[in-house]
This record gives sequence, structure tokens and C-alpha cells, in this order.
Amino acid sequence: MPIRISTRWACAAVPLLAIAFAFTATAAADYYAVGPPEAGWKPDNSNHTYCFGQEYTGNNMKDAAHATMAGLQNQTTMTKEFRNCDSGIDARFALANLPGSVIGQYTCPDRSGSYCLHAVLEYDSAAIVGYNKWLNVTCHEIGHSVGLFHGTSDCMTSGTETSYGNHHQTHINNDRF
Ligand SMILES: [Zn+2]
Repeated sequence: MPIRISTRWACAAVPLLAIAFAFTATAAADYYAVGPPEAGWKPDNSNHTYCFGQEYTGNNMKDAAHATMAGLQNQTTMTKEFRNCDSGIDARFALANLPGSVIGQYTCPDRSGSYCLHAVLEYDSAAIVGYNKWLNVTCHEIGHSVGLFHGTSDCMTSGTETSYGNHHQTHINNDRF
């Protein structure tokens, strides 16, 4: 089956240790919270606060973010809390023009050891078409924000999945401390 580049992931070395979400690149093993370019860092607490940047106003992007955070809360022992952006937020959603075929990107500008204090999840809205694709990409970037690695066959490697597999749920529940 041909690989449709635009719907696959990739991690590229991007300034600020970003994980660029674009095309191909699937790792054989699955690690947790080892940081970019393949994984995110651990969340610094169990209540994942999130907010939308000023430009994050589209219905699909907002609805997908809320649905994915609810999914994280339902599928794991983490909770979610939506609030206004401030310096203490765990995951800030923003839009960006990302390079090439990159459609989503996780960065952690504020880290303490293997814990991310404040992650930024950026999305290239011109390249993400339809609610289901927003769900897929949002699931992927939030996954990084709670430490997930590319590898397990769920939204962290698939271009269509919109949830976390059992293996990744176990990592989040047992290994984030
Ligand atoms: Zn990724």
C-alpha cells in the first residue's frame, strides 16, 4: 500500500527540541518520556490543564481538543482542566505555519529534568482538514504532552486513530511519576 506522505508522521530535528508531526518514521520499540525527537516529557502533575491561544478559534480544532482531553481523562488516571492561558498551563494550543509536511508539533520550552512544566502544541490548520483529522492530530500532540513515544499503533503512529492504545495508557498511568 502506498504511503501517503501527507497523512503520516515524522519527527524531525526542529529548533527547541520540537517533535514535528508529519510523515513516516515508525520506531520498532516503544519508550516513554525520553523527550524529542520521538517522545514528549512526563507531565509534571496528574491534572492536565490546557488552554487555547488567541488564534485557536475554529470549531473543529476547539471541539477536537476538548474531546481528546476528555478521552485522556476517560482512558487514563489523569484529569483535565480547561482554563485561560497563563504561565502555569500544562498544554497551550496554538496555530503555526509548520515546515514542509509537518502538521502538528510538540515543544517543551519549560522543563525540569524529565518533566515538562509547560508544553506548547502547535497545529498547521491549513493542513488539517476535517474534524476526524483534528481529533487524530490533537490526540497525537496531547500524547506527547503526557510523555508518549511514537511506536504503539494508536494515534501516536496512525494517521487516522483518535485514541490511546492499552500500552500507552499503561505508560501514562504507571510511568509518569
Ligand atoms: Zn510525534
